[in-house]
Amino acid sequence: MSPAKTSPIQIARRGLMLVISSPSGAGKSTIARTLLETDKQIGLSVSVTTRQRRPSEVEGVHYHFKTVREFERLRDSDSLLESAEVHGNFYGTPREPVEQAMSEGRDMLFDIDWQGAQQLQQKMQADVVSIFVLPPTMTELQSRLHRRAEDSEEVIQTRLANSRAEIAHWREYDYVIINDDLNAAFDAVQSIVKAERLRRDRRHGMFDFVRELLEETPVL
Ligand code: ADP
Ligand code: 5GP
Repeated sequence: MSPAKTSPIQIARRGLMLVISSPSGAGKSTIARTLLETDKQIGLSVSVTTRQRRPSEVEGVHYHFKTVREFERLRDSDSLLESAEVHGNFYGTPREPVEQAMSEGRDMLFDIDWQGAQQLQQKMQADVVSIFVLPPTMTELQSRLHRRAEDSEEVIQTRLANSRAEIAHWREYDYVIINDDLNAAFDAVQSIVKAERLRRDRRHGMFDFVRELLEETPVL
């Protein structure tokens, strides 16, 4: 066996747009947070929203919180890559950070609903990898919304009522994960990211690598 190399060969590639959706409470933000903490190659797309800030949320970290008027101004000036109304509030993805990341070949994570996923899939099909997260049971989904203890009972009931319509979109995604055991669900997401980064059509640097490989004369 040849001795281990100290630096693996790096092949230039396009960035991934990793889209994660689920009914509220299924665990996508938990999975997304863990991925961002463990994988420094991926950055979060911070959405704008007109929803009220939750106690645990920080402006500019979890969301950019906006008034409806501010949101409409952003949307109408084409500053949002996609936008949608979800559970009675507006949400949208700021365009500029995404275009910047993609032009630099960096990966981005999007915690957005099925309407946003559809819009990104239409606009940037080649770069989008989409994952839908399902809860193991509807009873567990309800328990998780209560255990999160960040929303009022009224908000929880709206989200539960909307969950079936959201789940109906599961077939529009590239991958579907059942978040029963969190570690197993996270492992699955990591495997998807790892494999998608290795796809031939994303690795434009492979052309140069293979050309140089074929030009090389082996030294005995
Ligand atoms: P979402 O972003 O999909 O609305 P969250 O990530 O906020 O959901 O998760 C909702 C609640 O469920 C949180 O309290 C989280 O800690 C918990 N949770 C997430 N995944 C699991 C799991 N596999 N088992 C048990 N609880 C979980
Ligand atoms: P929450 O209020 O729980 O943070 O999010 C509610 C829903 O809105 C979730 O399904 C979340 O993925 C979605 N969402 C968050 N940001 C965006 C966004 O920028 N665009 C779209 N379309 N949905 C979003």
